Amino acid sequence: MRKWNFCAGPAAISEDVLQEVKSELLEFKNSGASVMEISHRSEVYSSVAREAKSDLIEILNIPDNYEVLFLQGGATHQFSMVPYNFGHNTKEADYILSGTWSKKAIAEASKIIKVNTIATSEGKSFSYAPDYKDWSISDNAAYVHYCPNETIQGVAYHEIPNINKPLIADASSVILSEPLDVNKFSLIYAGAQKNIGPAGLTIVIIDRDFMEYGNPNIPNILKYSEHSLSESMLNTPPTFAWYMAGKVFKWIKDSGGLDYFKTQNHKKASKLYEFIDNSSFYSNNVDSVNRSIMNVPFLLANDDLDKTFLSEAEDNELLNLKGHRSVGGMRASIYNAMPLEGVEELIKFMEHFESSYG
Ligand SMILES: *Cc1c(COP(=O)(O)O)cnc(C)c1O
Repeated sequence: MRKWNFCAGPAAISEDVLQEVKSELLEFKNSGASVMEISHRSEVYSSVAREAKSDLIEILNIPDNYEVLFLQGGATHQFSMVPYNFGHNTKEADYILSGTWSKKAIAEASKIIKVNTIATSEGKSFSYAPDYKDWSISDNAAYVHYCPNETIQGVAYHEIPNINKPLIADASSVILSEPLDVNKFSLIYAGAQKNIGPAGLTIVIIDRDFMEYGNPNIPNILKYSEHSLSESMLNTPPTFAWYMAGKVFKWIKDSGGLDYFKTQNHKKASKLYEFIDNSSFYSNNVDSVNRSIMNVPFLLANDDLDKTFLSEAEDNELLNLKGHRSVGGMRASIYNAMPLEGVEELIKFMEHFESSYG
C-alpha cells in the first residue's frame, strides 16, 4: 500500500503517472517491447523524447533562444561541467554559498577555476540566503552561480537575482514548483529525482548564445554544445527516466500547469510553517523571507524524541521525515506530487505527537 512519502529525493511521483507507466510497461505503443527495450534512435522512442522536450518548453514557457538538454550524471556532474565549459576565458567565477549543495558546487569548481565566494551564510548555519543586492560581483567573473533552493537546509531565494553577469542556477529541488522567468538565466540545471521523475536524468536549460562561448577544447561528453548538436543523444540517454519525465510533464499540464502547482505548493508550505510557528514544541529557524516551499526542516523541542517521532510517523503512514544527517531533526519534502491532504495528515500527526509527548 502506498503511503505519504516526504523523501527529499528520489522523491514521490504522482500515482496517476505510475499507473499509466504500469499499463504501458510490458508493451509500449504496439512496438512489441517495453519502452526500455527499444533503441533510443527508433521512430517510436524519438517521438517520446521530442514530446517530453516540447512539453517541458511549454510548461516552463522556455524562449526559443534556449536549448533544453536531457543529460546524465545528476546535478553533481553539473558542478564540474559548468566550470569546464565556461571558466576557460577568465578562469574565475563567483559563487554564493547558502547551504550544503552550493558548498559542494564550490568544492568541485575550485578544482577547475578560481572560485570567488562572494556571499555566504555559513557563519549563521545557513539559516538565510544572502540578499543578492549585497553580492559584490567580481569584474572577471565568467558567471555567477547560486542555488535557489537549498534542499537540506530548506533555504530559498524567492526573487531571481538581477545582476549584470551570466546567472547560473542549481534548481534541482525547486524546478517546476512554480512558473520561472527563464530569460533571467544563462543556464539552469536540475537533477530529475526531486520534482521531475526518476533518478538518472538531469535537465539543462541553456541560453544558446552563452552555450557558444563554451570551451571548445574539452571532451565531447562534457560539452553542452556537443550535446545540443546531437539532441541529447551523444550516447545512449537514460531512456526510461526521460520517458517518465515526459509523463510527469503531461501530468503537470493536465493538472493546470505551473500556476496550479504554485498555488498548491504555497498553500501546503504555509500551512506547515504556520503550524510549526504556532507550536512551542516544533521549530524552524530559517529567516521567514527565505523559507523553502519545497523542503521544510523542523526540530523537536527535545531531540531524544526524534527516533520515537519517526517510528510513530511511519506507523501513521508518513514516510521519510528524517532530516539530513548533517543537520539532524526532521524534514518534510513537499514537492508537486505531495497533495495538500498529505500535509494535512502530517500536521494532524504532529499535533497528536505533541499532545502525547510535549
Ligand atoms: C539533490 C541535489 C543535488 C544532487 O543531485 P544528484 O543528482 O544526486 O547529483 C544537487 N543540488 C541540489 C540543490 C539538490 O537538491
